[in-house]
Amino acid sequence: MDSRCAKMSWEEFDRALQQFDGYVAYDTSKDSSGGIFCAMVRSSKDKKLAVMGDTGRFSGEEKGKIKLCPLTVGNAQVLMEYFPYTKPCSHRSHAFTMGLGDRLGLATPGQLRAVKDAAVFPVLAQQSIRELNLTGRTFPEVIADAAFGVFQEGYRKGYGADGDHLKTKEQIRYALESGCSMITLDCSDYINDEAADLDGSERKQAYAAVPKEQRRYYEEKYLNRELNCVGQLSAEELEQIVLVFANAVDYAIDCYRFIQETATTEVDFELSIDEARAITTPAEHFIIASELHDAGVVPVSVAPHFTGEFEKGIEYQGNLDQFANDLVIHQQIADLFGYKLSLHSGSDKFSVFYMLQKVTKGRVHVKTAGTNWLEAVRVLANEDPVLYRKAHKYALAHRAEAAQYYHVTTDPLTIPNIDLLGDSYLPELLNLPASRQLMHISYGLLLSQPWFKEPFYALLHEKEESYYSNLIYHIGKHLKYLTAT
Ligand code: ZN
Repeated sequence: MDSRCAKMSWEEFDRALQQFDGYVAYDTSKDSSGGIFCAMVRSSKDKKLAVMGDTGRFSGEEKGKIKLCPLTVGNAQVLMEYFPYTKPCSHRSHAFTMGLGDRLGLATPGQLRAVKDAAVFPVLAQQSIRELNLTGRTFPEVIADAAFGVFQEGYRKGYGADGDHLKTKEQIRYALESGCSMITLDCSDYINDEAADLDGSERKQAYAAVPKEQRRYYEEKYLNRELNCVGQLSAEELEQIVLVFANAVDYAIDCYRFIQETATTEVDFELSIDEARAITTPAEHFIIASELHDAGVVPVSVAPHFTGEFEKGIEYQGNLDQFANDLVIHQQIADLFGYKLSLHSGSDKFSVFYMLQKVTKGRVHVKTAGTNWLEAVRVLANEDPVLYRKAHKYALAHRAEAAQYYHVTTDPLTIPNIDLLGDSYLPELLNLPASRQLMHISYGLLLSQPWFKEPFYALLHEKEESYYSNLIYHIGKHLKYLTAT
């Protein structure tokens, strides 16, 4: 406690708080700094930030010694200045990092309880522009929600904020100005997937159209020599790599330099090629990595497109031996160039976690996100069967609409008829692949419906401890395999 706070006390704080009907402080959140006493407080209706002392920079309603402040972006920014641990920061010194994401803005305390005793650095705020659009939120709001959650739990070990799958410099600028500590560049718009389908003569023709300088550059650098990790490349292999990836490499270098010029603090750069159509071969990975390295780009992580299907919210589907073989070489390349591999859509991929952890020796980034929303839906299935049934039927009727945003293959005909199920079975629907995936991809549609959104948020406020318990179990299960020794 600093000296300016010495004359105040928490007893005084709790007494003063009683002037606001029904608000109780979270003891874990109580902290003082720079002449203020501050805590997260809740009533049966909502949550706020209560501040005592030099409250001038916060905005809210004042009664006696306490200012009760709504959980706005402005108040979060002031909070971050008083308590720097509530501000996102770089994770580059941490071996195992995990993107958790939170589409509702309510998951942070449960996520932190799940990770607090594990050797993992959490990237709590992790949203793509697509997710922001589907949930009607902004980057500053997403980060503010994470900051208030961090403060509520009194978590002091640091957390990250990932502007996920950003495609343009405008999006990168927006994420950086909002306070993101990590940028995941998705350069799939610059990957020429079609070039991978060309036959021999078509490819030769397309390659001949590449500027001569560029061809010579790649050929002199990569042909007729033994390359680390991947051996010799054939001319055909190199031609295809240049056709598919050269523009994406240039774009990644350009965006990296833009980040260096724009960012005011240290930012973790991830390059994602996981949304390219084809599986990333080790040779492709090597050349991309080598080009980035030679241009002075220092990624913290790279996400190749791994073999097999990493669909939302269900187990890995594919050849696990092939995955393991590729993973070993991808890891050698990552080691050679000094970054970590990143695995996207990592929720529920339990069958790959143990080997991922072994091969990467625990230096890896794993992104999960949507299943935090599913754990909130599980609270609904347990506590409000009527609303759950309505949401389920709505999602089923609009499945095609939701499926345009995500790659999903489960068969909706395998979802049991909900009218024939008793209430006690409803939570089980969130364990069956097809119904689980249905609810997983329907978050945007459902949250845009006031009949759903309002009572759903009210329920999660009332039952927040149930939500936190679900998250502890769910994320804990991931950590069990990802940190196993
Ligand atoms: Zn991805």
